[in-house]
Amino acid sequence: MADKEELRNEIPSYAYISLARRGMEKINLDQCFLKNCDNDSSELLEPFKKEEFEDDKKKITKIHIKCKKCEGTFILKMENIKSVAKSTKEIEEEPLSMGLIFALDEEGNNLGHIGYF
Ligand SMILES: [Zn+2]
Repeated sequence: MADKEELRNEIPSYAYISLARRGMEKINLDQCFLKNCDNDSSELLEPFKKEEFEDDKKKITKIHIKCKKCEGTFILKMENIKSVAKSTKEIEEEPLSMGLIFALDEEGNNLGHIGYF
């Protein structure tokens, strides 16, 4: 049985959205990504399942989350690319090179690319 708090720790607190030349915007991941739901309280979000896939190129972690406000379930999919181009010091500080995060609905349909983590 998956521990709720343990699963919560798997989720980054923030994702970063690239605003092209205007820099990066930080968004809180403690929110429901389902349509027509404005829940942004972590109290009402319950992670309950984790899936992991790994190959030579990337590692994918999916956290299934139940929203207690709209009663829906969504999935946060985190994709870590392993073979990131050799980073210079500057790039190391850039969260862009670390991973991609997506939101999926219960059936696995993509709700959109959230950002980078
Ligand atoms: Zn919701």
